[in-house]
Amino acid sequence: MTTTGYLEMPCTAQDEWRDDALCRNTDPELFFPIGTTGHAVVAIEEAKRLCTECKVISECLDFALDTNQDSGVWGGHSEEERRAIRRVRAAEARAARLSS
Ligand code: SF4
Repeated sequence: MTTTGYLEMPCTAQDEWRDDALCRNTDPELFFPIGTTGHAVVAIEEAKRLCTECKVISECLDFALDTNQDSGVWGGHSEEERRAIRRVRAAEARAARLSS
């Protein structure tokens, strides 16, 4: 079991993608700024830009959505953007249940 830089959680075989995380050695405040205004807006946009260059962006976003990571930038998406994805997925799941 290994740990990553900014993602200081234990890695299991399923999330070895974190070994390739471009953000492993970046300042955590860039990906987890305090607040959503002022300096935090600049940090969030810079973090999202770095994510576009990361080869595990899909795995990262899936992990964040599957494990309900509420804070920070994951997979190129901000907290609000991930909440919007969750709302859409929940609505789609409800619609699928109603139609079956
Ligand atoms: S997609 Fe972004 S947050 Fe996810 S591992 Fe890559 S750089 Fe880090």
